[in-house]
Amino acid sequence: MFGKTLIKNGLIITMDGDERVFRGDILIKDRKIIRVGKSIDDRDGDWFDAEPYLIVPGLIQTHVHLCQTLFRNLAEDLSLMDWLQKKIWPYEGNHTVETIAVSARLGIAELLLSGTTTIMDMGTVLHEDTIFEELAKSGLRAVAGKAMMDLGRRPEGLRENTSESINESLRLLKKWHNFDHERLKYAFAPRFALSCTDDLLKETFRLTQTYHVLFHTHAAENIHEVGLIRERFGVSNIRLFEKLGITGRNVCLAHCIWTDEEDRQLLKEHEIKVLHCPSANLKLGSGIAPIPDYLDEGITVSIGADGAPCNNNMNIFQEMRLAALIQKPKYGALAMPAKDVLKMATINGARTLGLEHLIGSIEAGKRADLTLIKMNQVHSIPYDNIYNKLIFSSQAADVEYVMVDGKWLLKGRRLQTIDLASLLKEVPVALKKIDRSLN
Ligand SMILES: [Zn+2]
Repeated sequence: MFGKTLIKNGLIITMDGDERVFRGDILIKDRKIIRVGKSIDDRDGDWFDAEPYLIVPGLIQTHVHLCQTLFRNLAEDLSLMDWLQKKIWPYEGNHTVETIAVSARLGIAELLLSGTTTIMDMGTVLHEDTIFEELAKSGLRAVAGKAMMDLGRRPEGLRENTSESINESLRLLKKWHNFDHERLKYAFAPRFALSCTDDLLKETFRLTQTYHVLFHTHAAENIHEVGLIRERFGVSNIRLFEKLGITGRNVCLAHCIWTDEEDRQLLKEHEIKVLHCPSANLKLGSGIAPIPDYLDEGITVSIGADGAPCNNNMNIFQEMRLAALIQKPKYGALAMPAKDVLKMATINGARTLGLEHLIGSIEAGKRADLTLIKMNQVHSIPYDNIYNKLIFSSQAADVEYVMVDGKWLLKGRRLQTIDLASLLKEVPVALKKIDRSLN
């Protein structure tokens, strides 16, 4: 299955320590990049002419929900708590093994077609094995975990008690963590403070330390949610986590919109990671996260599309563009330069996931995760600065080739591990099944 591939003469944005950009070659053997340089001569393996392409490190989204892709365009014009309680949780609670498989595959197909090679996924309460099975088959790189919810009003299918939730998470971790030479990893994923007991949050964090895995949750997303947390605990969302002992570099918090100065100091001091989801924050009317302030403080920020029903795409090009644009009215035109945005989607995504030794830049020794983007398109020429071209004028459909772990998963815009024609037929059938069980 593996061998050598020499990618010749592409315009390479390395995102390495020196931020080198040059026209050159990448030599890949098995899963790894073994050389990157201006002119590599090697005639042993496959040869790929990359002259028409910009090559970037495989793009990384640190916060998505594959289980929700099937609900795209079905939960409109609602704010967070209504969106969850009226639409998303009832849908998630009605997932079967078959429908969740279709949802995951649809999401993975869209991610690959738009150049994403690594995700961190939050599943739902049930059927997490199926999400891992789809990830395993697809070749995508992922950190994933079942959602944990042992508190509050929620539909039948999402009810679990504290020990059931923890035991199931542990079973999944033991089965899937480091699957396929570390391509898949497990992360504990308590949904958010209001849907989890203190015991669950504390015990889960303890387990993340025992097993050296990530703690992935939502925090400070919506002003109403933050108000409820203050009512219940008397402190802010971030402060609550600190009180429960949930701090450290393995803590990954999606959103972090409603934070004050003290919260920001906690994020900084404890090296907590912020997962920024600009489209979802705008669409649910949640607000705009103060990302330039976080970056000024040295907090690591990465990027994600969140779920399809609050976006309504999984397209990282839209997220990167929006991440830059939404800050400019408040912070000025110089805020969020394109290179910083690409960092969020590459090397800082890798740092967030604790995978910077494997991915996030194009360097010898790292895994061969690459996204190849067509350069010469009517909507993206001419250009002066390559980062601006990539963030502001390139589009998802310009992605023509995607490699993960040395294997082509997208070739000439054709998915190599997913049968797109049958997937498109399966989507309406799966949706009907969920809808029927809701009525
Ligand atoms: Zn989310």
